[in-house]
Amino acid sequence: MITPAATGPLGHVAIVHEDPERAEDLARLLRTAGHRVTIAVPGRRVVQGVVDCSPDLVLVSHSLGDPPMATVVKGLRQALGGDVRILVLYGFDPQGVPGDVDDVERAEPLQPTELQIRVSRLLRELAERRVLQKKTSELLGLYKMSWAFSLAGGADVLYGHLSRHSAEMLKAERGVVLLYDSERRQLVGQPPGFGLTPEEVQRVRYKVDGEADSRWNFRKNGPLLSNKAQADTRLLPDLVADLKLQSLMIAPITRGPKILGLLAVADRTGRAPFSDEDLNLLLALAGQATIAVENLRLHDEIKKANALLQEYDRLKSEFVGIVAHDFRRPLMAIRGFAELVLEEQDLPPETRQEFMRTVISETDHLALLANDTLLITQIETGQLSYNFREVDVGPFLLEAVPLGLSDNSVLMDVPPGFPRIWADPDRLRQVLTNLVSNAVKYSASGESIVVRVRERGTQHIVIEVVDHGLGIPPEQIGKLFQKFARVRSENHLKVSGTGLGLYISRLIVEGHGGQIWVESEPGKGSTFGMSLPIDARLARRPLLPAEKDEKPPSPAADSPTAGRPQG
Ligand code: ADP
Repeated sequence: MITPAATGPLGHVAIVHEDPERAEDLARLLRTAGHRVTIAVPGRRVVQGVVDCSPDLVLVSHSLGDPPMATVVKGLRQALGGDVRILVLYGFDPQGVPGDVDDVERAEPLQPTELQIRVSRLLRELAERRVLQKKTSELLGLYKMSWAFSLAGGADVLYGHLSRHSAEMLKAERGVVLLYDSERRQLVGQPPGFGLTPEEVQRVRYKVDGEADSRWNFRKNGPLLSNKAQADTRLLPDLVADLKLQSLMIAPITRGPKILGLLAVADRTGRAPFSDEDLNLLLALAGQATIAVENLRLHDEIKKANALLQEYDRLKSEFVGIVAHDFRRPLMAIRGFAELVLEEQDLPPETRQEFMRTVISETDHLALLANDTLLITQIETGQLSYNFREVDVGPFLLEAVPLGLSDNSVLMDVPPGFPRIWADPDRLRQVLTNLVSNAVKYSASGESIVVRVRERGTQHIVIEVVDHGLGIPPEQIGKLFQKFARVRSENHLKVSGTGLGLYISRLIVEGHGGQIWVESEPGKGSTFGMSLPIDARLARRPLLPAEKDEKPPSPAADSPTAGRPQG
C-alpha cells in the first residue's frame, strides 16, 4: 500500500474500532504519515480511555457494537467538547451517523489518500480553533487587566495585579513591575511581585548607568527574551543567580520615548521556553500597564495637588485672619489717637505731638503691610521684575541698613575697598530691612546687632545679620523661609508679625541667583546670612512656576536654608 505523506499538521489520533486488526492497519497508515496514534479497546470504559489520552482526533468505527458508535460519540463530545475532532468510519451504510460528528469516511474499501486529506483538514481546523481560542483568552485577559486597572485601589493593588496577571497569562512562575527612579537612576522592583518574596522584590534593581551600559539597554535594545538566563551575558549575573532565574522576558513600559518602567515575567511553568509570540503578548500587557501606571501617577498627583490646595486654602484663611488682625490693630490705634487729639482740646503740645507721631508710625506700619501683601501677589503671579544696577556695597549697606529702629545698636562690619556688585538695590534694601528689623524685634532691647559683609571666592559676597536674641528651635528652622511661617513659641508670638518677610527675602535673594540661610541657637541668638553673586545678571535665573509655589516643609537638616551652604 502506498502511504501518502502528511499534507497538514500532525496530531494525536485515537482509534476506536471493533476489529483489532483493522485498527492496527489504520494506525500503521497514520503513524507512517507522522501522526501519534493510540488504539482504544472498545468496551464500557472506552470513552474514559480515550479521554485520558487526550487526543486531537478520534476515528470511530460506525459498526461498533457495545457500546454503539452513537453512544461513544456522545460521551466523547460531553467530555471533550469542541476540543476534539471526531471522524466516523463507515462500511457500506452511512445512515445513523450522529450530527455532532465532524466528518465521515468510507472505510470499505479504504482510500488512504482520502483518509489523510480528511485527517489533515480536521487537525488544521482544530489548530485554527485553538489559535482563535488563545487569542480570545488573551484579549479577554487584556480587557480584564485594563478593566481591573481602572478600579485599582492604589499602588499595591496595581503592581500586585499587574505582576500576577502577566505571570498567569504567560504561564510564568514569577512576575514583577519595575519603575524608573529618576533620583537614583535605577529601575526598582515594586512590591508586591508575584512568586517573589518582598525581600526578593526589593533586590530587583537595575541601574541605568554603570554596569547596565555593557548589559541589556532597554532604550536601545527594546524588549528582552532569554530562555537560558543563567548563561545569558546580557543580564545582570548577580541578580539572575540570586533569584535562580531560568527563563525571562522583559518588556519596557513606555510613554513616548520615555521608559517609565519594565514588566518582567520569569520561569515558564514546567521549564518550557518562552516564544516570540509570548513576548508579543507581554508587550501588549506592558502597553496596558503604561495606561495603568500613568493613571496611578496622575491620580497621585491630583491627590497631592488637592492636599496642597486644601493647605493653601487653610493658609489663605489664616493669612486673611492675620492680615485683618494686623490691619485692625494699627487702624484702631490711629482712630483712637486721632479722636483723642480731636476731642481733648487742652492736651499739652508734647502729648499731642507724641499722639500724632504714633498715628504716623502706625500708618507707616499699615503701608508696609499693604506693600508686603501686594508684593506677595506680584511674586505669585510672576510679575516681579528686577532693576539691576551697579551697587557699591560698602556705602550701600551704610545707607540701606535701618539704624534707628530702636535702642538696639547696629554695628556695621564692612571691610574697606569692597567690590561693586550688580543687584537690584531697592529689593536688597527690602531684604536687609527685614533681616535687621527681625533681629531687633526678636532681641531684648539694648542688645547689639551686627551686619557684616565678606567676599566668598571671586564670584560671591556674603552678608550676615547677627543677633543675640531669642534664637530659633532647630525643628522649626526648616520651614522658616516659607510663606506665613512663624516660630510657634510663646515669646516669638508675643511679637506681632505676618510670617511673610523671610519668604519675600528668600524669593528676592533667589531672584538674584543667591541663597539665604540661618544658623541659630535657642536663647543665644541667630545669624541670618545670604550669599549673592557678584553679577546677578549672569547668575540669576528666572523663578520657575513651581518655585514660586510653596514647597512642603522639609526637615531642618535637609533644608537649603538651614545652616550655612557649602562652597
Ligand atoms: P514676621 O517677623 O513678620 O513674623 P518673617 O518672615 O520676617 O515674619 O519671620 C518669620 C518668623 O521667623 C518670625 O515670625 C519669627 O518667629 C522668626 N524669626 C525671624 N527672624 C528672627 C530672629 N532674628 N530671631 C528669632 N526669630 C526670628
